[in-house]
Amino acid sequence: MHILNIDSIVDKAFRHERLSLEEALFLTENISIPKLGSIANDLNSVKNHDKVFFNRNIHIEPTNICVNHCLFCSYRRRKGEEGSWEYSVSDMLKIAEKAIQDDPKLTEFHLVGGVHPDRGLAFYLQLIAALRKSFPQVHIKAFTAEEIVQMCKVDEVDLNNGLQQLIDTGLDSMPGGGAEIFKPEIRRKICPDKISGDEWLHVHQLAHEKGIYTNATMLYGHYDTMRDRLEHLEALRTLQDKTGMFNAFIPLKFKAANNKMSHLGEVDIIEDIKTYAISRIFLDNISNIKAYWPMLGIDQALLLLHFGVNDVDGTIADTTKIYSMAGSKKNPSMHSEQLVALIKKNNKIPVERNSVYDELKIYS
Ligand code: SF4
Repeated sequence: MHILNIDSIVDKAFRHERLSLEEALFLTENISIPKLGSIANDLNSVKNHDKVFFNRNIHIEPTNICVNHCLFCSYRRRKGEEGSWEYSVSDMLKIAEKAIQDDPKLTEFHLVGGVHPDRGLAFYLQLIAALRKSFPQVHIKAFTAEEIVQMCKVDEVDLNNGLQQLIDTGLDSMPGGGAEIFKPEIRRKICPDKISGDEWLHVHQLAHEKGIYTNATMLYGHYDTMRDRLEHLEALRTLQDKTGMFNAFIPLKFKAANNKMSHLGEVDIIEDIKTYAISRIFLDNISNIKAYWPMLGIDQALLLLHFGVNDVDGTIADTTKIYSMAGSKKNPSMHSEQLVALIKKNNKIPVERNSVYDELKIYS
C-alpha cells in the first residue's frame, strides 16, 4: 500500500501536479488552514494572477412552484400555496426591461426556478425566444439540468432534441445548479425526486458536445463528508478532461433556515474555507472558482478570495429569492462600483467579465 506523506503531497501541489482523491483528502486532514490557503492561492495566481471576476447580471426566477421535494429547499411551493409565483413570459420581459433600464450595461440574464408541473419545453422556448428578440445583446444563461430534463418530459420531447431546440432558440449557456452532491445514498436522502448525479453529468456533457459552456455546483455541509465532496469533484474533473467546457465551479453551502434539514445546522467557516481551497487545488482543469456572495454574504465571499477563489458572481439586482428564503441576506444587490471597491480593498484586481469569461474591463 502506498503510504501518504504530507510533505511530499504539499510539494506535489506546489509543483502544480494533479492530486489523487486520497492525497487531497490527506491534505485537508493534515495541514493547517493557512498552509492550505497558501497552496490554493499559489495555484489561483498561476491561472488568474490577482484578478477577481464579476459580471453585471440579473436573476429571473420563472416560478417557485415545484414538483420535487428536496429536503434542503426553502423555496419551493405548491401551486396556489401562499408565497408561490409563476411569472408569464410578459412578466419576465418586464423584469428584464426594468433591469436594462437600471443598468444598460447588463450582460447576462440568469434564469433558474422550480420544476413546474405543467410548463413544458414549449413554454420555455417561448420565453427564450422573447428574451432573445428583445435583448439580442444579453447572454442567456438558463435552466439547470433538472429543469431541462423535466420540461422535456412534460412535452414528451427527447432530451437531446429539446436541448438542441433551446440552443437554437437562444440559450447561450447553462448554470450549474441541481448537482447537489453526486453520492447516490445522500442524494436519495436529500433530493429523492431529482435526476441522479450520472444523469446530471450526462446533460452537461450533452450541452458541452453541442458547443455551449456550463457551470458546475456542489451543495456541501449537510450529511456529506470531505470524501463525498472529493468524489463529486473527481466526477467533474473527469468530465472536464473530456470536454473542457465547464466555465466555473461554485461550492454552495447548505443554508439551514426554513427547510426540512434545518436541524442539521450549518458548517462553520473553517469547513467553508477547506472546501473552497481544496476545490481550487483538486480541480486543476477548471479555471474559475466562484464564491456566490448572495449565499455566503459579501464579507465571507471576500475572505475566500485569499483561499483560491477568483470570482464573486455579479451585481444580481435583488432578483433572487433562492437563498434569501433559506436565511441569507434579503434582496441581495450590489452596484458594480461597490464590488470594485470591495475587491480592491482586498488587494485584488477587479475585472468585469461577460458570461464566458472574456474580460470587458480591468479596474487596475
Ligand atoms: S431545490 Fe429546486 S428542484 Fe428541489 S424542491 Fe427546491 S425548487 Fe424544486
